[in-house]
Amino acid sequence: MTKTPVALTLNAGSSSLKFALYDISGTPVELASGLVDSIGSTPRLKADFGAAAPSLKRDLTAAEARDHVSALNTALSELRQKFPNAKASVVGHRVVHGGPVYAEPVEITAEVLEELRRFSPFAPIHQPHNLAGVEAAMAAFPDALQVACFDTAFHRSHPKVNDVFALPREYYDKGVRRYGFHGLSYDYISGELKRLAPLVHDGRVIVAHLGNGASMCGMIGGHSIASTMGFTALDGLPMGTRTGQIDPGVIFYLVQQEGMSIDEVRQLFYSKSGLLGLSGLSNDMRTLEAAGTVEANEAIDYFVFRIRRELGGLAAALGGLDALVFCGGIGENSRLIRERVCEGMGWIGLELDRERNARNDTLISTEMSRARILVVPTNEELVIARAGTRLLESAA
Ligand code: ADP
Repeated sequence: MTKTPVALTLNAGSSSLKFALYDISGTPVELASGLVDSIGSTPRLKADFGAAAPSLKRDLTAAEARDHVSALNTALSELRQKFPNAKASVVGHRVVHGGPVYAEPVEITAEVLEELRRFSPFAPIHQPHNLAGVEAAMAAFPDALQVACFDTAFHRSHPKVNDVFALPREYYDKGVRRYGFHGLSYDYISGELKRLAPLVHDGRVIVAHLGNGASMCGMIGGHSIASTMGFTALDGLPMGTRTGQIDPGVIFYLVQQEGMSIDEVRQLFYSKSGLLGLSGLSNDMRTLEAAGTVEANEAIDYFVFRIRRELGGLAAALGGLDALVFCGGIGENSRLIRERVCEGMGWIGLELDRERNARNDTLISTEMSRARILVVPTNEELVIARAGTRLLESAA
């Protein structure tokens, strides 16, 4: 019996592994998706198998997800059970950093893998896990094409002025640049705009990807011109647990006056700050919206304030604004945040239709609004599956 060709997508975070399976006998169609989280502590598996089997939620034993390799094998054994006739022809990996080199998805050969390891110091929290996922998948599927899709790639179209820091030039040459992230999400949104509203796509668009990680990207004609994240995924907007933009002088103070080590500062900035740090309660926007405490409200205020500030800055970089697009868990679901971001933004051409916003419509601006406001659910996994399929076809 001939097996169905499928693409497996993997997104290995610091303590999580997201996966999805696509039938690629035609245009990629999702068959399953899931997540192993809390790898190495109290791991759990959540998976949805579409029509093939009931969805699954279970705690895993330590041995089933001791590390990313065992977590992948646990997920794979579920997928193999549910889809016995699937043959993985391609495995697509989300790789955070493609350095200054990669502007497109690429087949992962031994040389490419070596080069990607050299970018690990640029993304020490993410890149090593991404590459551990690559190695595990290479061992599990030695015959499949392995493809890397980069979060930085979409932003390689940044003009130079937006690619540099004001440091001596040698640091730029060493790779200290303003890379930008969430590129897979922006790539997907750009494609959706082309399909849903081609004129908007061709214009000046700001996309606000507001999830646990959050950033914004200014595009013209679907190409990235500027983004709020820089050298690492720490810059720009405050996030669930990350600071976002911060005066680098704070680091000197914390190290010199508070006696913190660089690792402690890193931990503070990446894992204890942002919405969690400001609210003292949670990194989760739903919890903060429901809490109504002074601290939770201040965290929301700061989140909204920084989005509005970046909106103005990005619009200036684009020379105006034709559309604002919300995506990510908060952007797609939080009416409150969308309403507060757009409040009093008539000066920049944005006028929110409150009823449309409350209904979670795709178009949430008024008919009179000079610039449109849209809500477009993002799908990074599909971007990876499509790229993998494209490379598979061109390799055939
Ligand atoms: P990640 O960056 O981990 O992929 P998501 O894009 O899933 O994160 O976004 C997670 C965030 O979205 C959380 O802060 C969560 O509270 C928020 N969120 C999800 N649904 C809602 C909602 N209905 N209202 C407000 N916030 C929401």
